[in-house]
Amino acid sequence: MDMEPHAERIDKGDIGAGFKKGNVGALARAISHIEENLQSTHSLFTQLGVTGTEPSWRTGITGPPGAGKSTIAAFLAKAWGKEDVRTAFIAVDPSSDRTGGALLGDRIRIDEAFEVDGVYVRSMASRGSLGGLAQAAGAAADLCAAFGYGEVLLETVGVGQVEIDIASQADVVVVVLHPRSGDSVQAMKAGLLETADILLVNKADVPGAEATARDLEGALNLAGNASVPPVLCCSALDGRGMDDVLSTLNSIRGHLEESGELALRRGKRSLSRVQSLIGDGLRRRAWKDGNLASRARKLLEEGMPAEQVAGVILERALMKLSETAQ
Ligand code: GDP
Repeated sequence: MDMEPHAERIDKGDIGAGFKKGNVGALARAISHIEENLQSTHSLFTQLGVTGTEPSWRTGITGPPGAGKSTIAAFLAKAWGKEDVRTAFIAVDPSSDRTGGALLGDRIRIDEAFEVDGVYVRSMASRGSLGGLAQAAGAAADLCAAFGYGEVLLETVGVGQVEIDIASQADVVVVVLHPRSGDSVQAMKAGLLETADILLVNKADVPGAEATARDLEGALNLAGNASVPPVLCCSALDGRGMDDVLSTLNSIRGHLEESGELALRRGKRSLSRVQSLIGDGLRRRAWKDGNLASRARKLLEEGMPAEQVAGVILERALMKLSETAQ
């Protein structure tokens, strides 16, 4: 298995040469660079010749801890490997930062699940801004695609809004639940099931999986959504139902391509990337300009509400931008 080195001081020039040579360490450093400097994604991509449109499938895999996401991901990676398609697995943990112990524990869990050669495994943690984490995960997936991974798995742990944000970085979303856990109710409430293209009730080797799947199907039908995702029972441990998981995933992908939905999802993703880059760019420009910063401080001191100050500063930053553009 390819391992990333610890985060270190990053020399972008260094990354460029290694990345183009197919050096996995350079990929790891490029991802660290984005984790730490999301706003310089564009300049890094330009330098590495990454466009963000390199062909690869991005599969979001999400669900509560212990449901079997990593085990299922390892199964998928093995199957894709047999077809000579390499997999990158990015585990995103919104609840931990790099100094926390959670990441190490997570790493051990993932390392145990993955005994598949040629799979690139990477953890990404929150750096304070959760919206930024979804963007960083998307950019990391772009890097993996450009590096030559035809399959990128984006794993998140949980059933909340952050998972939904990160799932929006994927082409197709797999939700994994355990039998009889009550997680399904929570996932339903959080709206996670609506993002699912396929629902897996894993651990079908233990009692209760079929009943849980039927409950889920019933709940999904009741919810009255336009389309109800397939609900499958499987066991990543003994392999039952896993062929069906693969073939269902393939036919979902085929349908997404043919219906134009895939292009729509990718277009939406690019647009949200542009929006966030513009937001970052404007923020940086506004604060780089010392006059704007001191003007903001002065207005606040004069008692102007923050929303209004932001409006004034944004106006001024835009004016300055259009002056420099002329
Ligand atoms: P994750 O936290 O969702 O990534 O879950 P893991 O893939 O790490 O699996 C959690 C635990 O469940 C591990 O001990 C796995 O060996 C076990 N596990 C995974 N799949 C199955 C399964 O299909 N059946 C059973 N009985 N255990 C499983």
